[in-house]
Amino acid sequence: CSEVEYGNIPLHSLGDGTCSIPLMETNQLYELSGVRTFEHVRRIPGNSLFIAQPIGRGAFGTVYRGTMQTEKAKVDVAMKALNNAVSAEADVDFATEALLVSRFHHPNIVACFGVSAADFQPSCIVLELLPGGDVKSFLQRCRSITDSLSTSMNELLDITIDIARGCQYMEEHRFVHRDIAARNCLLTSTGKGRAAKIADFGMARDVFRSEYYRRNASHLLPVKWMAPESLTEGLFSSKSDVWSFGVFLWEVFSLGCSQYPGLSNQEVMAYVGNGGRLSLPSPYCPDELYELMQHCWIKASADRATFSVVLEKLLELVGLPAVTSARLPTAADAPLPLGSV
Ligand code: ADP
Repeated sequence: CSEVEYGNIPLHSLGDGTCSIPLMETNQLYELSGVRTFEHVRRIPGNSLFIAQPIGRGAFGTVYRGTMQTEKAKVDVAMKALNNAVSAEADVDFATEALLVSRFHHPNIVACFGVSAADFQPSCIVLELLPGGDVKSFLQRCRSITDSLSTSMNELLDITIDIARGCQYMEEHRFVHRDIAARNCLLTSTGKGRAAKIADFGMARDVFRSEYYRRNASHLLPVKWMAPESLTEGLFSSKSDVWSFGVFLWEVFSLGCSQYPGLSNQEVMAYVGNGGRLSLPSPYCPDELYELMQHCWIKASADRATFSVVLEKLLELVGLPAVTSARLPTAADAPLPLGSV
């Protein structure tokens, strides 16, 4: 099911070609209360942090699982370390990410405990540990189990409701994420009762370096998750996040398939630009759910759903037996070909 998820798109396809990713109208740091500058990010003494083992690779270096000793208890944490050999540019990105994540306080957004640092630059961002892995891998594992009982519509709806709540919080604070996708959401556990959280702010972090973006036209973009106005005009807003959330819904209810299989990024841009949309994520997808996805994919961003509407609708769907009793796809069910709905 997996394909390359980020790709280059030609510079001329984005507005007048002078700016590959324009600075956001919103996303100003003052929009979120609390931490204002990097100096305000909480410092954690190095001697209260203990590294256990590597659990992932991030843009700056290894991500470790470990513990943090607080006054009262030992807390499990994830530590995003900054490689020693990285550039000054990466240092700035790293500090920006720490600042960004520290400003969110929501149960469906990964919590940041602070940074371990002696002076200005952090050497490690200390985050709440989300040991259930990313949502995309979880979905693909469920799909590979052939009896389709590996998860249920209710459990999948719960994941989408969690992420919609996190997105609604960002919408309320006029923060634009730009990269809502199953790969960027992590789970508290793989078992029942899991919660899903938005955990990767790489794309939002990068737009703070506007100068870099003006120069670096070849930055990789998540084309298959992007709204038409982002693809053609470089416009990002909460409404373009809603479009991406619609694609996230499609990922969830296809159990982790790749959308637009076989199409290049260029072809997807043409397809979406001409009004083409993803077909049903599975042959069993309830109409109500697919209608919600289509509401996220309305071309005119003003007519598209808001996250409040999306959340309300998802909460409604959890109460509909016709939705919650729908079958889930298995490895034997390919998503329907494009244009078949
Ligand atoms: P970057 O944005 O710097 O590329 P990510 O945030 O994607 O890095 O982190 C890389 C990997 O590290 C993730 O795919 C995930 O496996 C792991 N990881 C990151 N944050 C956490 C966390 N809070 N809890 C558990 N694992 C995490």
